[in-house]
Amino acid sequence: MTRRKILISGGGIAGLTAALCLAKAGNRVKVFERAEVLEPLGAGIQISPNAFHVLNSLGLGRELLSIGDVPDAILMMNALKGSELATIPLGLYIQNKYDAPYIVIHRADLQNILLKACQDNPDITITFGAEIADAAIHQNGVTALVKTDERMKEIVGELLVGADGIHSSVRNNILKLEPAIYSGKTAWRTLIPSQQVKNDKALSNTVVWLGPKAHAVTYPVRGASYLNVIAVTQEARKLKFNEKSKADLVKKFAHWNSDFTDLLKNNVEWSGWPLYETRSIKTMAFKTMALIGDAAHAMLPFAAQGPLKLLKTRMC
Ligand SMILES: Cc1cc2nc3c(=O)[nH]c(=O)nc-3n(C[C@H](O)[C@H](O)[C@H](O)COP(=O)(O)OP(=O)(O)OC[C@H]3O[C@@H](n4cnc5c(N)ncnc54)[C@H](O)[C@@H]3O)c2cc1C
Repeated sequence: MTRRKILISGGGIAGLTAALCLAKAGNRVKVFERAEVLEPLGAGIQISPNAFHVLNSLGLGRELLSIGDVPDAILMMNALKGSELATIPLGLYIQNKYDAPYIVIHRADLQNILLKACQDNPDITITFGAEIADAAIHQNGVTALVKTDERMKEIVGELLVGADGIHSSVRNNILKLEPAIYSGKTAWRTLIPSQQVKNDKALSNTVVWLGPKAHAVTYPVRGASYLNVIAVTQEARKLKFNEKSKADLVKKFAHWNSDFTDLLKNNVEWSGWPLYETRSIKTMAFKTMALIGDAAHAMLPFAAQGPLKLLKTRMC
């Protein structure tokens, strides 16, 4: 088996997962992460059975199950009336159907599990505070220009994987593809301590609130000690990433059912994430460079695992 030297730009969920997959396939992987440390940004993340299968094949299933929560069902609610529109069973039903669970987890916990697995793997090195500033394809593979502490260093690999997120420089600056665009929507996120949550159903289910031009999703994390809340609204103004604000939010949801608006009364900080999306591209592989994760196909969270058209995008 050929043991390739593979460079990855970005140590987010996509970059770290790809590093583990590529090392498992016998390659040596170098991950370059621009941040000095991985910040535990965001709150919750849902891991569906197909994603769980991938993580389980990397030996992470048991740890994910011990830290993640398994909701009983997805409850779809009419946000104005507070009535239930539909129920999608999760829990054992999904476990039996797909031979894998549907779990919800704190983003920082998932990131830490992936990071530790990479750090324990002798075939993976991660350099923090290292930005992929440029790269060129050549007959031996690819040379990346890595910027650390104002110094530039050339690193040669056989493949460069751009896993550098929504504003990917591999996508935008090196491959010169169309950048992600602001969708006009913002995701507001918070974590509410479970003692402050009156609605018991919220602590054992994923609840989706559907309202006019807005929706919200809640689910428990960290052994149901917190309720993770995401509310998506239309915003003409593009917020700064992680901007803290609550006043507008209370006004926007004033006409929603009190089972939801009660959550806004809690004294917790909400942060806004402007949501971006990319148009689908014909290929995500370009000779010795490839894009993955948000760098390849940033989508709105409610597109979940993406439209069929995107899933069928040709990989070459
Ligand atoms: C509100 C919301 C809810 C979501 N919920 C879910 C969910 O439930 N389930 C799910 O599967 N997905 C969910 N998603 C989507 C998911 O969060 C993203 O698709 C995923 O985090 C993208 O990971 P990534 O590694 O591609 O990018 P990122 O997490 O953005 O990581 C990119 C990394 O690259 C680094 N970087 C950037 N530029 C460079 C450079 N030039 N050189 C080196 N490093 C660089 C950055 O510092 C960063 O660490 C949600 C998204 C949002 C906004």
